[in-house]
Amino acid sequence: MSKRQLAMVMDLNKCIGCQTCTVACKTQWTNRNGRDYMYWNNVETFPGTGYPKNWQDMGGGFDASGNLQAGKIPNIESDYGVPWDYNMGEMADGKDLVPHQEPTWGPNWDEDVGTGNFPSDNWFFYLPRICNHCTNPGCLSSCPRDAIFKRDQDGVVLVDLDRCQGYRYCIAGCPYKKIFFNPKLSKSEKCIMCFPRIEKGLPTACAQQCVGRIRFVGFLDDTEGQVHKLVNEYKVAIGLRPDYGTQPNVYYVPPVFTPNKFDANGAPIADSQRIPDEEMEKLFGKDEFHHAKNTILKELKKRKETGESELMDLLIAFQHKDMFRLDNNYYQQVAKDQGKNPLAPVDDRYLKGKFTKSASFYKVGH
Ligand code: SF4
Ligand code: SF4
Repeated sequence: MSKRQLAMVMDLNKCIGCQTCTVACKTQWTNRNGRDYMYWNNVETFPGTGYPKNWQDMGGGFDASGNLQAGKIPNIESDYGVPWDYNMGEMADGKDLVPHQEPTWGPNWDEDVGTGNFPSDNWFFYLPRICNHCTNPGCLSSCPRDAIFKRDQDGVVLVDLDRCQGYRYCIAGCPYKKIFFNPKLSKSEKCIMCFPRIEKGLPTACAQQCVGRIRFVGFLDDTEGQVHKLVNEYKVAIGLRPDYGTQPNVYYVPPVFTPNKFDANGAPIADSQRIPDEEMEKLFGKDEFHHAKNTILKELKKRKETGESELMDLLIAFQHKDMFRLDNNYYQQVAKDQGKNPLAPVDDRYLKGKFTKSASFYKVGH
């Protein structure tokens, strides 16, 4: 266990699938140096194949007794998709816009497809995903080189690129497939929870840019914080696939506001819901999902009847700044306790290696 745990809550009822978070992350961290195909943040359509393709069927994580499970390493071409580009420069010469190579697969290949019959009972929702910075990370347990570590200061899970030899056991061991092989460096890489921003009191790039304002970032032990209240008090924010046994620290408010189904005449069927509970039970755990759903609907009713509900206020998040409770005084104190300049990075292990020490990689806003 880390001394503290940084966590993110995503309210799926508010995600509009705009991919702003994806672009914010990609331009900050993964648009170069063998990371081109990686999406540390992706937003997939559920139900759908996801990214990488069918990641939920690829194994990894732990069984109910805590034993590490065998997992598959996704194929870059067929499971992630090779990024393609367009002949933009030739358009001025009157040529049609065409990709340089025929695309065969990519993230969001099945965006907005969903399931069911339009317009009577079709449905889908957006599922944004980053590394869960798990309390019991499958990636860390799988690594024979002790190259993956969980920061004591905030529970962020990182890869020590100097120790990593590119064996990729971590990719097999992560049931969320949120750690990637960099073919250029022959190393594994993953979301770093924007720790250079976090240490300066800024939220992650994906959360800062989120158009739907679905993302809360804060410490789980900050009892006045929205993250703590949503996860630990109201318990409306719950982990994805808790059966994987990694104890994820990204929490989701499940989608509970769904339109009614339509009858043959196109009229709404009262009290019907498009998203089947069984699908949500599988994604979030049966008891956890029903508790979250019942609490949200109860509080919504209370708000309508009385005008009061702290939970609804939290979820609406009137002030953007209220969604982030990041204590950079804490990081400054940690740095001081280490005998460093208070503004110095608190983590040496990730940054000192020859692969990560370049100032440009670390610099906030690069
Ligand atoms: S989501 Fe995967 S990569 Fe991230 S900490 Fe958990 S097991 Fe590791
Ligand atoms: S930026 Fe926010 S609303 Fe847009 S896709 Fe990402 S999580 Fe969803």
